[in-house]
Amino acid sequence: MLGSRRLLALALAWLILATACGHEQPLEISQDLIAEFPWAETWGEIHDVDFGSARGRRYLLSGWSVDEWDRAKKSNFVWGVGEESVLELEIPRPRDLMLKVRCRPAPGIRGQRVDVVLNGHHLDGFGLRNRLAVYQVSIDGEWLRAGVNELRFRYADHRPGGDGAGGDPRPLAVAWYELSLQAEGAEASAEPRLLSESDALSIPSGTRVEYYLRLAPESVLQVEGVDLRGENASTLEVSLQEDGESSARPVGILKRSKRPRRLELGGEHSRVVRLILEVPVTEDRTSEDSGLILRAPTIRVPSSRPTTSPSDRQSTQEAANEPRPNILLYLIDTLRADHLGIYGYPRPVSPQIDAFAADATVFDDAVAQSSWTRASMASIFTSLWPLQHGTNRRGDVLPPEAVTLAELLKDAGYQTVAFAKNQNVFPTFGFSQGFEDFNAIWAKGKSHKINTKVEKWLGTYSGDRPFFLYVHTVDPHVPYGPPAAFKEQFAKRSNDDLTLKRPPGPEIWKDLESEQQERILGHLLDLYDGEIAYNDSTFGSLMEMLREHSLYEDTVIVLLSDHGEEFQDHGNWQHGRNLFVENLHVPLVIRFPGMGHGVRVEQRVQHVDLMPTLLDYLGLDVPEFVEGSSFLDFVAHPEMPGDEPLRSVYSFLHLDGLPNVSVLEGDWKLVQNLSKGEIAWTNLFNRADDPGETRNRVPERPILASYLATLIAKRRGERSRLTAGEAVLDERMEEALEALGYIN
Ligand SMILES: [Zn+2]
Repeated sequence: MLGSRRLLALALAWLILATACGHEQPLEISQDLIAEFPWAETWGEIHDVDFGSARGRRYLLSGWSVDEWDRAKKSNFVWGVGEESVLELEIPRPRDLMLKVRCRPAPGIRGQRVDVVLNGHHLDGFGLRNRLAVYQVSIDGEWLRAGVNELRFRYADHRPGGDGAGGDPRPLAVAWYELSLQAEGAEASAEPRLLSESDALSIPSGTRVEYYLRLAPESVLQVEGVDLRGENASTLEVSLQEDGESSARPVGILKRSKRPRRLELGGEHSRVVRLILEVPVTEDRTSEDSGLILRAPTIRVPSSRPTTSPSDRQSTQEAANEPRPNILLYLIDTLRADHLGIYGYPRPVSPQIDAFAADATVFDDAVAQSSWTRASMASIFTSLWPLQHGTNRRGDVLPPEAVTLAELLKDAGYQTVAFAKNQNVFPTFGFSQGFEDFNAIWAKGKSHKINTKVEKWLGTYSGDRPFFLYVHTVDPHVPYGPPAAFKEQFAKRSNDDLTLKRPPGPEIWKDLESEQQERILGHLLDLYDGEIAYNDSTFGSLMEMLREHSLYEDTVIVLLSDHGEEFQDHGNWQHGRNLFVENLHVPLVIRFPGMGHGVRVEQRVQHVDLMPTLLDYLGLDVPEFVEGSSFLDFVAHPEMPGDEPLRSVYSFLHLDGLPNVSVLEGDWKLVQNLSKGEIAWTNLFNRADDPGETRNRVPERPILASYLATLIAKRRGERSRLTAGEAVLDERMEEALEALGYIN
C-alpha cells in the first residue's frame, strides 16, 4: 500500500539529506520521548486510573478536586466534590469487565453510598465503610461501547470538609485513590507504556500516544530500532496536528527495523504541535499481543553552532579582581510597571525614576514570580520559583536552608544592610538571612523616613567593604494616602466627598451604580498615582544622597517591584488574588557602573534572574541550584537579536485556598485557576494583540493550550527544593499584616 512507497521515498530523502549536510550538521536530541512520556497522553484501553497523579487527571471530567496528598497513607488521591463525579474511559473492545475502586468517605459522612452510572445505565452501587477499602462492580459488556465511555459516581451525601486550618469549604463526598478495569482472566496490557529496562516505548495495536511539543525547525523523529510486540506485523503511523488544522496530517510510517530510522517532521519555524504515534488495529485481527516497540525514540534537530562568548564580558571577569561595586536593591512595593513614565504612563508621576532610567538599563518585560510580597521576595532572594522555595502561604517562613542573595554577598565580603517597611519580609518570615543589619521598620511614615535612616547609615559607612543595601518601601500599597502636596497634584480631580483610602468590599462594590463605581475607581487610581509620585520623589532624594556621598557612580542600583496592583482590570482590587498582567508586569531598571546606560532590553526577564545576573556581573560563582539565568548579555549587547530558544516563565500564587499558576512563552500566556477545587478555568492570552489579557483564546488554540498546560503540569510535578517553616505571629504582626490586607 502507500506505506512502503512512502518509506522508500523518505529513506531516499534521508540519504540525500545525510550526504548533503551530514558532516556540518549533526543532529542533537531536543526532546527525549521516553523522558517526556509521563506527560504525553496515551489512548488505548484504560486499565488503571491513579487518582491524584498527572496521568490520572485526564480521565476526570467534572466533580473532582485538584490532586491531593494523603500524608497518613503516603498516597495521592482526588476528592469527589459535589453531587457527582464524572470520568471518561476509553475501551476499544467491549466485553464483560470488573470495575474495582479504592476509596473512603469524606470526613464527617457516615453511611455514604455511591451509585455507578455507565453511559446512562445504572449499575450496582455500593455503600462505603468508614475507612479506605476496595469495592467491585461488574460491568456487562453490553453496556459498553467501543471507544469513549462515560462513568458517573453519584453520591448520597457531601459536605464541607474539616481538614486543615480553618476547615475546607468544598463539598467533599468521597476520597478516590485508585480505579481499575479487569477482564475475565489475565490479559496483556493494551496500553502504551514504557519498558523501563530497555529505554523503549511499547505501543500495542489499537492504541496511540500523543505528545504536545514545541518543534524546532527541521526536527526529525528518530528511533534506534522498531521491534514487534508479538508475531503479527504492525505499522506505526506518525502524524502531526497544529492549531487551525481540522485533523492530523500523516508524516510517515515506521515498520519493524533493526536499524535506526528517522522521519522528517519538517517545518521552517518553531511551532507547537500534537505529535501522534499510533499503531492501528490490523484489519484481519484484533490480537491483544500485537503492536510495536520503539527503541529510544527522540526528536532531533540540527546541532546548534557553538556560541562565541561576547568579548567585553571578559572585562567584567577582570573587574572581579578590583574592589567590587556596591549594590543597592531599591524595591518599591506594589508598583505596576504601566504607571511609570518609562513604560508609557501619560501622567507625570515619575520624573525621578524616568531621569534615572535614562542613565541606566530599562527592562521592558520584567515578570514577577508571584503577585504578593513574600512569595515574590523569596524568589528574588533565592532565584527559585515559588513552588521550589515553598514560601507561599500566610504563615510560611523562608527556611534557614535557603541560600539567599544576601548570604552569598556576605560570603563574598559585602556589608549587608536592609531597611524594610513591609512586614512580610521581616525576620519573623526568614528574610533577614545574610543581613548583618536588618532594620525592620515598624514606625508609621512613608519612604522619606526610610531615607532618613539610610542617610544616617550612609554617614557611618566606612567604605572598608562594599555594601549590599536593600531598601523596601511601601508607599503605593494600601492604604492609598499620598502626602498633601501629591494628593493635591494627582488626586485633585477626585471629589472632595470621597475619603476612601482603600477599595470598597465586594458586597458594597457590586451594589453601586456604574457611575459611582467610575468615581471611586478614578479616585483610588489618583491616590495610587499620588503615592507613586511621592515614592518617586524620595527615590530621587536617595539618588542625590548617593551622589553627595560619591557613591552613585560605583554602585549597582536596582529599582524593582515585587508585584503590581489591580484596579478592577479583572474584577478585583489590590494584589495576591490572581496572576494577570497588572499584577505580574513589574518595573525593572538597573544602573550598572560602566555599562548599559540608556539601554532598553526587550527580552523577557523575571525575578529569579536578578540574583544570577548580579553574581555574574560581580564575577562571583552562580550556584547550581538557581532557576534564573543572567541577563547581563542583554545589557551588554542590546543590539543582538534574541535567537535563543523561547524561554518559559512561570508564576505561582497560593496565598488563599488553592493555587493559581501561569506560564508565559513567546507571545502566549496560559493561566490556570484552581480556586474552585479543580481546574476552574484555563485562560490562554495572546499578549501581542491583547496586552491587557482580556480575551481567552483556548477555543481557537487548543493544541497550544495543551502544550502550555503540559509545561505547567511538569513544573507542578517537581519536588520542591525547600519546605517552608511556619511562623508564630504575635499581635503586632497580625495587626500589621491585616493593615496590608494579608489577613482577612
Ligand atoms: Zn508587595
